[in-house]
Amino acid sequence: MVGEFAIVKDQWQGKEVSYYVAPAFAPHARAIFGKTPAMLDFFSQKLGIAYPWNKYAQAVVQHFVSGAMENTTASVFYDYVQVDARSLQDEHHESIIAHELMHQWFGNLVTCENWAYITLNELLPIMLNILGRAPIWPGRSHYLGLEHWQNYLSGFCQSPPAPSSAPAMPTLTTF
Ligand SMILES: [Zn+2]
Repeated sequence: MVGEFAIVKDQWQGKEVSYYVAPAFAPHARAIFGKTPAMLDFFSQKLGIAYPWNKYAQAVVQHFVSGAMENTTASVFYDYVQVDARSLQDEHHESIIAHELMHQWFGNLVTCENWAYITLNELLPIMLNILGRAPIWPGRSHYLGLEHWQNYLSGFCQSPPAPSSAPAMPTLTTF
């Protein structure tokens, strides 16, 4: 990643949590990403496994081909998430921030056995069920796209891919 960034740093249990944004957005970095330490607390508690890596960075880049990507310890986001405090009153991107953070467990720490189950890396319905009820997002489950992701996974479960090398579908367990 090459560019001119402002870096705003928080901490979580002694580990660096950093936000890389365009310099003009430095004053807004915590408004955009500042719930990350609370999310780390929340996922660590709910999953029973503390965040497994030695730091966590989030970087906003331009012309990114997708919404975001969960590289281990360093997620990258498209610049749509980079808005000022005024715009954040109308739209927030906590759902994608939480999503990429969740991948530090599902998809990064633990991943599926083969490509047939890549959808299981997107275990959002399970986690978003929790998030929707989470005290840090009271009444904001609609922000998290809960229904969209529930439909996404239930469609997958109704007609899962069945390559000859794939093991039987695992049983999904909600927390
Ligand atoms: Zn994902």
